Amino acid sequence: MKFDLIVIGSGPGGYVAAIRASQLGLKTAIVEREHLGGICLNWGCIPTKALLRSAEVYDLFRHAKDFGLAADNVRFDVKAVVQRSRDVSRRLSRGVASLLKKNNVMVIWGEATLVALGQVRVSETMDQDVPKLSAEMKVSNLADLIARHDPSVSRHQGMLILDSEGKLAGVITRGDVMRALDADPSGASTVLDAGRRDVVVTYPDEMLHQASAKMLRNNIGRLPVVDRKDAQRVVGYLGRAGIMAARLRRLDEEHVREPGWIKRL
Ligand SMILES: Cc1cc2nc3c(=O)[nH]c(=O)nc-3n(C[C@H](O)[C@H](O)[C@H](O)COP(=O)(O)OP(=O)(O)OC[C@H]3O[C@@H](n4cnc5c(N)ncnc54)[C@H](O)[C@@H]3O)c2cc1C
Repeated sequence: MKFDLIVIGSGPGGYVAAIRASQLGLKTAIVEREHLGGICLNWGCIPTKALLRSAEVYDLFRHAKDFGLAADNVRFDVKAVVQRSRDVSRRLSRGVASLLKKNNVMVIWGEATLVALGQVRVSETMDQDVPKLSAEMKVSNLADLIARHDPSVSRHQGMLILDSEGKLAGVITRGDVMRALDADPSGASTVLDAGRRDVVVTYPDEMLHQASAKMLRNNIGRLPVVDRKDAQRVVGYLGRAGIMAARLRRLDEEHVREPGWIKRL
């Protein structure tokens, strides 16, 4: 989804700016990682003033006599005072939610990060259709598939090897296949034995230039993309072609970028 403006943070600065931008005709979204209304509505101005109000009313009761009134046995319940303050915050935060909705501002929940112009993350360009082989597959079978230009193995120079549990076990390239057949023309060895087990990986949230540096440093042309929390769980495949395509896309974008709304004003 594309927006003219994305505001980070829904504090008094953010939500007011987002609503005004939308009223001025910009397709607007706001990203919030915690509570709508920011510090002011949830922890700062509003809840503190609600606590102060309770203190003020308590003080008035204590000085009831000064006003010609009588109030005996005036006490306070801290838990109830804090609860009231939290309720006021929640009510106002819900108010911000409905104001944003009414003004067509889309709320995106999560932590926003700014990526410098020209930078791309691996997840934006990785191939999700990963070329996978079973660790028990024989080299002769793979060679046969390659010779027949089978689409499952012909799109990439390298293929990922998964064990019986679907976990990343290694990588094999066409070069590895040729070397294995050279050593044993019967191709009886498994792809896992013929490939590499010490696999260099990248992560979906890694910057493309960092992944490219890994390739250059290790003199390899492809990287399995794995889950940061489980380095054996494959989520994608990054090859040199993917990197070149991303670079080209960015170049094109920068050349054909529309003037944008700032120039239109
Ligand atoms: C105890 C206390 C009492 C105060 N009382 C008053 C008062 O009486 N009057 C007054 O004028 N001011 C008061 N302030 C100050 C007031 O809270 C701030 O000036 C105001 O909240 C600033 O608004 P803001 O929109 O700039 O940022 P914030 O209110 O801090 O909002 C920022 C929002 O952005 C979100 N955010 C930040 N980074 C990201 C990210 N990367 N991705 C997604 N979301 C993100 C945060 O979760 C937060 O919701 C008080 C502050 C405190 C702490």
